[in-house]
This record gives sequence, structure tokens and C-alpha cells, in this order.
Amino acid sequence: MKEQIINTIRSINSQLPENVQLVAVSKYHPAQMIEWAYQAGQRIFGESHVQELQEKHNLLPDDIQWHFIGHLQSNKVKYIAPYISLIHSVDTVRLLHEISRHGVRNNRRIPCLLQLHIAQEETKFGFSPTECMEYLQSMEWKELEGISIDGIMCMATNTDDEGLIREDFRRANSFFQQARTTIPELGENFRICSWGMSEDYIIACNEGSNMVRIGSKIFGPRVY
Ligand SMILES: *Cc1c(COP(=O)(O)O)cnc(C)c1O
Repeated sequence: MKEQIINTIRSINSQLPENVQLVAVSKYHPAQMIEWAYQAGQRIFGESHVQELQEKHNLLPDDIQWHFIGHLQSNKVKYIAPYISLIHSVDTVRLLHEISRHGVRNNRRIPCLLQLHIAQEETKFGFSPTECMEYLQSMEWKELEGISIDGIMCMATNTDDEGLIREDFRRANSFFQQARTTIPELGENFRICSWGMSEDYIIACNEGSNMVRIGSKIFGPRVY
């Protein structure tokens, strides 16, 4: 198990283009497995449940960068606000405001990505591209002193059709490029394109991703 995790991390890293960061998605897996990945040099881990993240954060080395990748409830922001390195899954303006409030309280700007809903499914969370662009253009976010908007995150449609997945990522990428070039106020912070998971990260890297979130390929299937 240990060897397998270490080898997989090494092999994914050797495969990824140099500008692409790997988030090892450790949700539902025990702290022991994270330690093994840590021994392979992995420092960025993604979790999607606040309580589970809290437990792991207390247990594991301080130089781990924890990323929150799941749907985040406003009333739980306070628990992770002191230490979270990046929240990928900001899906409403209200949540962004709440994160900012806790960022200010903790004397920091919490790095955030806006989650775009581009998949062909009803169930996924996120801003529609139109909604997201309008919000970015509104400049309202400039008032928020406890966050920084560092880029966007999305998930492709859950399908075997690679063409469809590629199209989803392409739309996300053109959204990102358009926002970056037409809204210069976003500045240098606005640089992260978080797309690609175990099954589609190679396509994602070909379609502009610079941060992939990989779970089951590294840690095996999750037991819920
Ligand atoms: C669970 C999860 C992943 C990892 O999925 P795998 O298919 O196991 O790689 C990536 N992103 C998000 C948002 C997730 O919830």
C-alpha cells in the first residue's frame, strides 16, 4: 500500500507539465495514507468535509497545505479559516462574503477559487459562466478584505465521452482567459485553473489546467 502510494505520486508528478500542481485528494482516507504520500514529498492535500479536515490537520505535519475542495457551508468557515491554504469551491457570493469575514478576523486574506458550473448536469454546484463574469465585472469583490480571488475551479461532465470532457475544460479555459484579459483589476493573483481529476487530468492539462485534484488514482477507491 505504502509503496504503491509513493510510486503513484512520483509517476503522476513526472507526467505532469512543470507548471501544473498536484493536489492529492485524501478525503475518506486515513491519516496514515497521507503520511505515506507526505514521505513521497507531497505537501498539498485536498479534503471536502470540515470535521474530517480538522482531525487530520491536528494530527499531521504543519507544513502540509490543506485545500478545501467540497461544498462548504457558511457556518463551518470559521473552523478552517485560520489555516486553510486554498478554498477551491466557492459557489456563491454569500459564501465568499462569509469567508472574507473570517479572513479579516484571522488577519489574513484567504485564497479562493470561484467554482464554475460548466458540466452538463443539474446537480453540480457553482456559478454559471454568465453569473460569474458579471460578478467579476461588478468589482464588488474588491471591497472584500479577507479573501483573494486566485482563479477558477470546475468539474467536467461525468461521462466517458472524452470529447465532451475536453469541451467542458475548453469552456472553462476560455472563461479564465477572458476574465484575466478583460478585468485587469484581478491582477497577478488570478492565476489558478483547477480542473482535472483521476480520470481526466491528462485532458485537463492539455486544456489549460495548472492544478489537478487527484484522489482515487493515488489512494484507491473511497469507502463511504
Ligand atoms: C473527490 C474529488 C476529487 C478527486 O476525485 P478522484 O476521481 O478520486 O480523483 C476531485 N475534485 C473534487 C471536487 C472532489 O470532490
